[in-house]
Amino acid sequence: RAKAEAPGSAVYYSAEHESEIRQDRATEAALRTADLEAEMTVHLQPIVWVKDGSLKSVEALARWTNPELGSVGPDVFIAIAERSGLINRLTKILFRKALHHLADLPEDISLSFNLSAYDLTNHETILSIVALIRQSGVRPDRLILELTETAVMQDLETARTAMDLLHRLGVCIALDDFGTGQSNLSYVHKLPIDLVKLDRSFMANIDDPSSRNLVCAAVSLCQSLELTCIAEGVETAEQFALLQSVGCDAYQGYYFSKPVPAADLVADLTQANGSVGL
Ligand code: C2E
Ligand code: MG
Ligand code: MG
Ligand code: MG
Repeated sequence: RAKAEAPGSAVYYSAEHESEIRQDRATEAALRTADLEAEMTVHLQPIVWVKDGSLKSVEALARWTNPELGSVGPDVFIAIAERSGLINRLTKILFRKALHHLADLPEDISLSFNLSAYDLTNHETILSIVALIRQSGVRPDRLILELTETAVMQDLETARTAMDLLHRLGVCIALDDFGTGQSNLSYVHKLPIDLVKLDRSFMANIDDPSSRNLVCAAVSLCQSLELTCIAEGVETAEQFALLQSVGCDAYQGYYFSKPVPAADLVADLTQANGSVGL
């Protein structure tokens, strides 16, 4: 009602805002009482080499289906889990599931898992992650942990300690959503970073020469720092052609495949004997 009466006014804003808060509270309450083991699942999205289209790795993406709320996206529930202190527990549940899928994948494929800033700065969570890797029996070098710049910059020294510990174990570290934060590259060479994931905003408006130049500059930067460069959000043949021409290493996006239920991808890959059978 407020919307119809006064679009864009303070009334409209506060009504929207209030309903958003109410929804967040409902989601938080559901998250607190949910059977997370049963309701959380992992989708996998292929990441493929630009050069020959072979499968490089898969990214684990969390999915939540709740009996009352239906399906809730990670952009929503991860933020709520972070705010309400549930993230560390959630991370452990998701990470164990992801490791389980990794164990079923062909040996030459790695798995990327997203860590929250709150995981990185929580010593107990980092130790649990290390313990879960050991228990799983998978080679640590088949694991990539994705961190955003914002997560790393929030508490650089704590982040560095955690990253060093994981890196010494053999785990690869990726900088996720690169280009959305302050992109302060002065710290990159001081941290154990192996890969950079260019945010999908880089892929927008590539018809525009200055956007194309930006992609080229970002890829060159990765090359000069000897970091593997992965482009996110690749949806079109034009975007893919651009990545080929600038020498980007790998890409991820709907142009190749959407995220799919982990079991489906594992079944496809084991049937196709290691080649991507999508
Ligand atoms: P992200 O790590 O940057 O993951 C990539 C997101 O881009 C995924 O959204 C994926 O579905 C989407 N995407 C992939 N290809 C394309 C494309 O071609 N076009 C477009 N428009 N989108 C594409 P999703 O699955 O909704 O996840 C959103 C974010 O939620 C992730 O962004 C990540 O930050 C967070 N997230 C997901 N799973 C987890 C998790 O297990 N733990 C934590 N801490 N965060 C997670
Ligand atoms: Mg990611
Ligand atoms: Mg990303
Ligand atoms: Mg993102």
